[in-house]
Amino acid sequence: MDLRLDADELNSCVQCGLCLPHCPTYRVTGDETLSPRGRIRLMREVQDGGAPITTEIVEAFDTCVQCRGCEPACPSGVPYGSLIESTRAALVTEDHVPTRLQRIGFWPLSHPRLLRFGSTMLAIAARLRLVPKRLGIPRDLPWRRRRHSTSGDDVFLFTGCVMDAWQRDVHHAAQRVLETAGYGVTPTADIAPCCGALHAHAGLGDNARRRAEATIAALSADDRPILVDSAGCGAAMKEYGHLLDTPEARAFSSRVFDIQEWLAERIDELPTVTPLAVCVAVQDPCHLRHVQRVHTATRTVLDPFVHRLIELDDDGLCCGAGGAYSVMQPELAGAIRDRKVAAIDRVSPDIVASANPGCSMHLAGGGVPTEHPMSIIDRAIRGPR
Ligand code: SF4
Ligand code: SF4
Repeated sequence: MDLRLDADELNSCVQCGLCLPHCPTYRVTGDETLSPRGRIRLMREVQDGGAPITTEIVEAFDTCVQCRGCEPACPSGVPYGSLIESTRAALVTEDHVPTRLQRIGFWPLSHPRLLRFGSTMLAIAARLRLVPKRLGIPRDLPWRRRRHSTSGDDVFLFTGCVMDAWQRDVHHAAQRVLETAGYGVTPTADIAPCCGALHAHAGLGDNARRRAEATIAALSADDRPILVDSAGCGAAMKEYGHLLDTPEARAFSSRVFDIQEWLAERIDELPTVTPLAVCVAVQDPCHLRHVQRVHTATRTVLDPFVHRLIELDDDGLCCGAGGAYSVMQPELAGAIRDRKVAAIDRVSPDIVASANPGCSMHLAGGGVPTEHPMSIIDRAIRGPR
């Protein structure tokens, strides 16, 4: 089967294995097939050797979290993210992966009113304990949300789909922080409801491209910066140039910034306040650390606002959230999270700062007290109430 992989990219792997310690699925299973090197070998066997697509091969690709922790560890610069995304898209196109449930589940993401209505119903069901625990749906999902309001046109704040329905308070906190620094903010709200990150992750390439085109069309009337407070959405939007391969998409991606990345360059514009009396461990979402590679900015912006920042000792290993991974692969996601929780327990922080909604909910499901960096800074700026 032709996986439509670039031969040079595929052959750039020299099978050295230096990526293995950075792969969460290899770390929890010890199974070479569930490692980057093993998966790349399978890609070659299928694309170049004509190996048939078996259940084991589909499983090997399906269980990849797509955290891309293997990329920065690779001395040969293998673009693993591009390889696995193309592989999954080819398996979907050739009907080797059932996607009907995912297509149905993702449909509301680009219909914000329906998504909010469904989220409200889910919030009520979660409070009544009617939602199976293994789905990892938080019990405290909001069933009411304060409206967005525009305060100016200096920057867009991308609000997205699930995060806007489930964690809108984080967007409000981010907006207040930006306003404190003197910037007028336009929340994108329903004009650009979904970036397509979850679709791309699931191998639904056509849907991802349609969401990318709609997002670019909605936010390209001017060239102001687009700030993103979800690491997964920011990574996806920064890769629109690669996804669509057009000059417009590349120009759009150059306007996208993770909000911590953008504020770290303007840290002097934030006020000096009494730091919160908390020790904060920073959890680096994979899409901030391995894909955007701007994770140090989180420390730069948080540091003046908290008593102490603490580093985890696991070298940025994935937490197992991975888009819809924790729902599709609950056992592996749970085992990967256990390693992260152990790393957090070793440093005993008061709070874990996580700049990605999927990671924060997955960790909260494991009993970890999480908060978005913008919410922490907003609390420090607003002071005791
Ligand atoms: S992906 Fe990179 S680090 Fe991993 S086996 Fe291949 S060449 Fe080595
Ligand atoms: S993307 Fe993550 S889970 Fe997949 S092979 Fe690379 S390190 Fe392993």
